[in-house]
Amino acid sequence: MKIKSVRARVFEWKGKTVPPQGNFCSNAMDLVYVQSPHASLPPEGVLPVLGRPGGVATESMSTFRFHSWTVVEIETDDGIIGLGNVALAPAIAKAIIDQYLTPLVLGQDPWDYEYLWQRMYRATHAWGRKGVTMAAISAIDLAIWDILGKSVNKPVFKLLGGRTKEKIPVYYSKLYRTDIRAMQDEAQKYMDEGFTMFKSRFGYGPAHGTKGVAENLKAVEAIREVIGYDNDLMLECYMGWNLEYAKRMLPKLEKFQPRWVEEPVIADDIDGYAELNQLTSIPISGGEHEFSLYGFKQLLDKKAVSVVQYDTNRVGGITAAHKINALCEAYSVPVIPHAGQMHNYHLTMSTLASPMSEYFPMFDVEVGNELFYYIFEGEPVAENGFIQLSDNKPGLGLTMKTEFLDQFNIIG
Ligand code: MG
Repeated sequence: MKIKSVRARVFEWKGKTVPPQGNFCSNAMDLVYVQSPHASLPPEGVLPVLGRPGGVATESMSTFRFHSWTVVEIETDDGIIGLGNVALAPAIAKAIIDQYLTPLVLGQDPWDYEYLWQRMYRATHAWGRKGVTMAAISAIDLAIWDILGKSVNKPVFKLLGGRTKEKIPVYYSKLYRTDIRAMQDEAQKYMDEGFTMFKSRFGYGPAHGTKGVAENLKAVEAIREVIGYDNDLMLECYMGWNLEYAKRMLPKLEKFQPRWVEEPVIADDIDGYAELNQLTSIPISGGEHEFSLYGFKQLLDKKAVSVVQYDTNRVGGITAAHKINALCEAYSVPVIPHAGQMHNYHLTMSTLASPMSEYFPMFDVEVGNELFYYIFEGEPVAENGFIQLSDNKPGLGLTMKTEFLDQFNIIG
């Protein structure tokens, strides 16, 4: 079996988009804009509006949007088509695939996946290693694993160790910061659907002063009021805090018993993660913006995170993620991948060190965390807080969806 062609296309959503309200999640850009301390929070009960004085600049929130996606299709000489995808910087990822990676895999045997991975990683090493280059390598690697599964008529998880759990527990991930009542209604709705684990986003960070601290605590308390303490609550900062702010916030959050606090500081501040992870009883999680086996070795060596959250379509694909899982097992650190999606579910299913997965519900296109449902057919839908993978669906189990095709600009 040889790789005959590689096609990378960018799917740019042009359909209806629901604008998320206000500062729906703190993020790394929050600290960049200088805001008047008096204008940084609107009056009680009113949320800041994007791009308006007293709100957060539109540019800041745009770092949290993923409205286009790169889809890679690799075809073999015996007619198997493997699907891979990447959501980081789609046009750049496509250019890297077209110009640098495709020539390295054309004519090659997909079963030589480790050799091909090393070729891509080492050929781009001078300027690649992390970020969009590794995401582009990931997309090719995913398509290769999809081919491998299809070529032997087995789901990918069967090639990685098989079924380690009857079904995969998933946690409900959304609860963007909006008005408190709406967040409570959302938590109640999904608790009624059977979810027992919930992740919510902080709206405020260092730029929002003590009022922002109070707002953050108010939201956590309000969600706990609804879900109680028999259900898990995870709290997401999306790199929107800094070390000093996180050191003030974590002791205040302890009484709410979060299962973890996610990405409190920017991904490069590994010593900051390590300090925070020792500071309180709250486990610190991270890794959705970390790359490769070496990146995770560093996080684990420094005890920087208590939960590893790579995304397989960023970290180096299944070839890299499988090795990281082994590393996490040796460090007794659970792997709970970012974002849901089939490529992550197959690794969760086949890894005892991976107790559950993230799950975004299908929703109107908002920030783009849900866009993959519009591109691919076959993404599992949660029932009572679990998703299931079929033993009989070969490969990753996805096909291209046709229903929404006219709502994308397709480039390439
Ligand atoms: Mg996250």
